[in-house]
Amino acid sequence: MTETTMVQEDTRNFSQMIANFAGELKDLFIERNSDVDQLTTRGLSDEQMARIMKHNPLSVAIPSEYGGRGLHVKECLKVLETASYESIPLTLIFGINIALFLEPLAKYGINAPKEAIYNKFLKHGAMGGLMISEPAHGSDALNMTTQHSQVNGIVSIKGKKHWQGLSGDADYWLVASRQAKENGGLGRDISLFVTDNAVPSQHIPLIERYENNGLYPISYGLNSLDIEVPESHELQPESTGIKMLMDTLHRSRMQFPGMAMGFLKRVLEDTTEYCNNRLVRGNSLLQFDQVKHQLAQLQSAFTVCSAMCNRSCEISGVDKNTSLLGLEANTIKARVTDLMQNAAQTMTQLFGSSGYKITNLGSRGIMDSRPFQIFEGPNEMLYSQISEAVTKQMQKLKMTFSEYMAQYELTASVSSFFAPIIDSVEASKSMPQRKHVLLGQAISGMVVASYVEKLSEVSFNQDLINNTIDSLKQDVDNLLNKYKQSTIINPIDHFLQNSNWAV
Ligand SMILES: Cc1cc2nc3c(=O)[nH]c(=O)nc-3n(C[C@H](O)[C@H](O)[C@H](O)COP(=O)(O)OP(=O)(O)OC[C@H]3O[C@@H](n4cnc5c(N)ncnc54)[C@H](O)[C@@H]3O)c2cc1C
Repeated sequence: MTETTMVQEDTRNFSQMIANFAGELKDLFIERNSDVDQLTTRGLSDEQMARIMKHNPLSVAIPSEYGGRGLHVKECLKVLETASYESIPLTLIFGINIALFLEPLAKYGINAPKEAIYNKFLKHGAMGGLMISEPAHGSDALNMTTQHSQVNGIVSIKGKKHWQGLSGDADYWLVASRQAKENGGLGRDISLFVTDNAVPSQHIPLIERYENNGLYPISYGLNSLDIEVPESHELQPESTGIKMLMDTLHRSRMQFPGMAMGFLKRVLEDTTEYCNNRLVRGNSLLQFDQVKHQLAQLQSAFTVCSAMCNRSCEISGVDKNTSLLGLEANTIKARVTDLMQNAAQTMTQLFGSSGYKITNLGSRGIMDSRPFQIFEGPNEMLYSQISEAVTKQMQKLKMTFSEYMAQYELTASVSSFFAPIIDSVEASKSMPQRKHVLLGQAISGMVVASYVEKLSEVSFNQDLINNTIDSLKQDVDNLLNKYKQSTIINPIDHFLQNSNWAV
């Protein structure tokens, strides 16, 4: 990214820093969003990036001994929220940098050249990302084929990676790789290496740019790796590399609510205002019961996301190991990204025909938020993992579903809300995946209800809490009814045989 030394704001007072940052983004995105050409242009201009980065938003994810603000989750989420109030792509740029590069570097980059890297982030607006996915290995990333071998302290890494956010633009990468074995096979564990694109032997060229449909400011594509890095660039796991990767990905999933928070707040504010002002038959849209229902759903999404941010602050700091917190990480990521997509759909619908303009946040949000349901674990996979983990434990403890939920630490305080429906739920680890997906969605609803309940401890609006709990009860009820009734219908082979309607 830009190599010039940045003009910087004083960021010692965090509230002031956020207020200045928010003001800058407001002005910048009013200009950008009113110009269709800019909205569909790929990337942000150097001038726009300089205006954004002069507030040093990424200082929140840099340790204080290196001049940063010390990686406090609350501050990281606040930066993400402030950016997402104006732009999903911008918040994703910060999400990538914070959760997928700076946090793992701070925690595991024991021997990495952190001083130089942090200096470039703080003084020159540098950017970093994470390379995991490969053309043949996306959701089954652990089978990746990018490989490394080491001779005399130099590690050679070869492979292909694709769909990395900031492809061709980032200054630094964390590259995931497996060790090449002498027998030609690959080790089971995963290693992470820091690379510096400014060093020719570490440079990772973008060999094909993808035309991403949405998230225009972010560059994606196919990256070819044939690089060499000093062994000191390898991140040092506390136990295995896979646990280090899971810790990184779980912490990242727990920071998704920061990226969703501003967007959900903006959708709620703008949609409420529109519905109040839009007259149909001489009355506002709020005359319609269904519109009221949709606005209540947006308010619940806002409340759930607030509760998730609150929970994330408690459990996802870099001082904690999140590798075993899969159920919560999956719940938070899958639920909040579904909320983003649903909110974008609702906003587009309620704005009627004007919702279909590219200048409308809702219709842009549909494409911008859609990949959040796919990357860092497709949501169906995450929901089914939630249910598999619960049913495995239930079976081990010889408990029914309702007995398990009544004693499980993440649902015990709210399980009575979901009686009697959970009393009649039967579940087993060996049931079909489609049932696990539905049960996982229901379990995640209960977990989220416990987060929402805890919001009253921070004096959050009790009416919003009550409405949201009611809405979650309804949602879990619907999901469990569907779960109980689901029959297994499989696709038909050779579906084009004898299937021409016109014959
Ligand atoms: C906008 C965007 C940004 C991205 N950013 C990054 C990045 O910064 N770094 C990076 O390394 N990668 C990134 N990715 C890649 C992303 O993580 C992968 O695309 C994702 O893991 C899915 O992999 P795949 O595309 O190979 O899909 P596949 O693995 O082929 O899966 C396709 C679909 O099959 C279904 N499916 C797959 N597995 C299961 C399962 N176990 N159970 C049920 N259903 C399943 C899901 O519906 C899934 O979406 C990004 C992708 C996109 C689109």
